[in-house]
Amino acid sequence: MRPFAYTRTASSSAAVATVTADRDAKFLAGGTNLIDLMKDTVEAPALLVDINALPFGDIVEHRTFVRIGALARMSDTADHPAVVRIAPAVAEALLASASPQLRNAATIGGNLMQRTRCAYFRDVATACNKREPGRGCAAIDGINRQHAVLGGSRDCICVHPSDMAVALLAVDAIVRTRGPRGERSIPIAAFHTLPGDTPQIETVLEHGELIVAVDIPISRLASTSTYVKVRDRASYEFALVSVGAALSVRDGKIADARLGLGGIAPKPWRALASERALIGVAPSAAAFERAAEIAVGGARGYGHNDFKIPLVKRLIVKSLASVAA
Ligand code: SF4
Repeated sequence: MRPFAYTRTASSSAAVATVTADRDAKFLAGGTNLIDLMKDTVEAPALLVDINALPFGDIVEHRTFVRIGALARMSDTADHPAVVRIAPAVAEALLASASPQLRNAATIGGNLMQRTRCAYFRDVATACNKREPGRGCAAIDGINRQHAVLGGSRDCICVHPSDMAVALLAVDAIVRTRGPRGERSIPIAAFHTLPGDTPQIETVLEHGELIVAVDIPISRLASTSTYVKVRDRASYEFALVSVGAALSVRDGKIADARLGLGGIAPKPWRALASERALIGVAPSAAAFERAAEIAVGGARGYGHNDFKIPLVKRLIVKSLASVAA
């Protein structure tokens, strides 16, 4: 770990101003991802601004939405009655993430900002465009079993590791931020970016822009959502593939649908074309299989990860059948 300065503040404007003023400064919340990366010298911020004293730890149910503070812990969010009732997919995704110890420390804002688990990204002896732009991508011709089949580029084929962000796609969540240019509301589907030729950029946040909350609108759709995850072992493991799904059925037809996919793309992946194909038809195995086929249109395997394409199709069908039931 390289030497760094540390400060803490109880003022969000001071936190934003301090990080904005220093290109090498970062916010520190739960630290479960950032500190690991600093130990491996993948990250080397010159200054950490500890934001744990900011008043963003509450989960509050309002008339039309539930607001989850950015500093709410994953474990508290997973167990919160309003989250369980209004957005079951989010509670399920959080419980399927990490370990109990990590869930007690990690925050909702940090979960959205966590970085890829690509082994080459974490090994500073190997080529990685995300860690060192222009150096190459060791995964494309390397061991790529965990890597993306959708949304990758010739510069990066990593996958985004968050379970929760996939579930948030299924419930139309909105990320609230405070930054050097004021406050913003960003739909979760627009929050993360694809690698293209700048894989080091992972979100639309400006430097110094702080996540303050995640809002989940109360809807019939969100209340019927679910999250299903396939992984190599039953706990403390990242997704090989995952699905956050929500369906609303009226008069025997699908009135609305959401489909978020995880483990298959560099960002939490919304299968918009599949959602459109589901609307207006009766829920059935054939309709779900068609939606699954559409979801993997354009998917490409890199050898070790070819299995993800049929696997995610089966998981889409399973999760849609589950919410339809
Ligand atoms: Fe780096 Fe992305 Fe390639 Fe992994 S897939 S080595 S994160 S550039």
